[in-house]
Amino acid sequence: MGAATNAVTSIFRPSQALSKVGPSAITRMTAATAELKRQGRQIASMHLGEPDFRTPENIVEAAIRAMRAGDTHYTALDGTPEIKSAVQEKFSRENGIYFDNDQIVVSSGAKMLLFSAFFATLNPGDEVIIPAPYWVSYADIVEMMGARAVVLPTHAQDGFKLQAEDLERAITPNTRWLLINSPSNPSGALYRRADYERILEVIERHPHVWFMIDDMYEHIIFQDEPFVTPAQLRPDLQGRILTINGVSKAYAMTGWRIGYAGGPAPLMKAIKAVLSQSTSCPCSIAQAAAAEALRGPQDAVRRYLAEYRARRDLVMTELSHCAGLKATEPDGTFYAFVDWNALFGRSTPKGETVTDDEDLCRYLLQDCGVSTVPGLAFGTQGFFRISFASTEAELRLGMARIREGCAALI
Ligand code: PMP
Repeated sequence: MGAATNAVTSIFRPSQALSKVGPSAITRMTAATAELKRQGRQIASMHLGEPDFRTPENIVEAAIRAMRAGDTHYTALDGTPEIKSAVQEKFSRENGIYFDNDQIVVSSGAKMLLFSAFFATLNPGDEVIIPAPYWVSYADIVEMMGARAVVLPTHAQDGFKLQAEDLERAITPNTRWLLINSPSNPSGALYRRADYERILEVIERHPHVWFMIDDMYEHIIFQDEPFVTPAQLRPDLQGRILTINGVSKAYAMTGWRIGYAGGPAPLMKAIKAVLSQSTSCPCSIAQAAAAEALRGPQDAVRRYLAEYRARRDLVMTELSHCAGLKATEPDGTFYAFVDWNALFGRSTPKGETVTDDEDLCRYLLQDCGVSTVPGLAFGTQGFFRISFASTEAELRLGMARIREGCAALI
């Protein structure tokens, strides 16, 4: 029977929406790394975008309590009253923003909220302005909606931050959203009050443009000055700002799949309509855990941050010893975005010429045993991303391999 079933072939035709999207470079890198590990190669993993810490014990306990208490059924679509008030308190305590109950939605990860917000608002022909380098999923989600990702390059000399003049020039009657992520995956750029104020002035002048902000790495910043988010700076523009956040990175909870967002009630209602026909409510148990994360002791967040800071310093020191590489020190996140332009066009010891990010990352993986992600995956050629969400030993090994690999390029 098995053989007969396998023999049946059919032509698979993906939908138009999906045909615009290929597997991401991170997915390809993950698969290639896994394959080499399966063959017994020891690879230093520096491509992954998730904390390597365990979820704090008080959060795990809250999930266990929820299961034992029988909180194992559907909940309200946009989250239990408990998680919604925990999110409301978080926004007011940490960001100084007040959201009513109908302005908050909790869902299965921040990515689902981004997806739903775009699904709920974009039509073919609409444009979304995305500064590059950007997190890989943004442009793909926009393109899946039949809309256009208008990618605006940013520059190392501006700290990889969008400049107000460039935004002004890019706005057209079709612009629907500006999307910014701060601190940024992959560049680590952190928008400060003055950066946002200039951008918000542009947004104010164009009432048809809404502002989506991804604050996912809020708690991983290395500056002493407080984190700022646009809705807190301009309450008068809150009617067109969507603030997206989640527990994945701050609390080492990527697998629990809880994200949350605050924004204008009509938008949140539309997002709920999308969720009601897709994921339904987020996992009831994970919601209880996330409420504990937001409300409970925050010492693990501080511990992780101290650890990321030490790793960032290690990676930056190591990078300064890598001939041909340079990187701006990240103000936040656990990524460094490394400029390798000085090595462009060189050859590997096997005689292969390195002419794009994929060539370099393939060489680093296959020949040097360290996994990284090509900059082009984030819309910026001439760079690669390393993640320092791994142990000190693995980072030292990975950085030594990068240093030797780059030195061997002639
Ligand atoms: N935004 C950014 C910038 C991210 O890097 C990620 C995860 N890599 C997400 C959103 C998605 O977060 P979640 O796990 O909540 O879907």
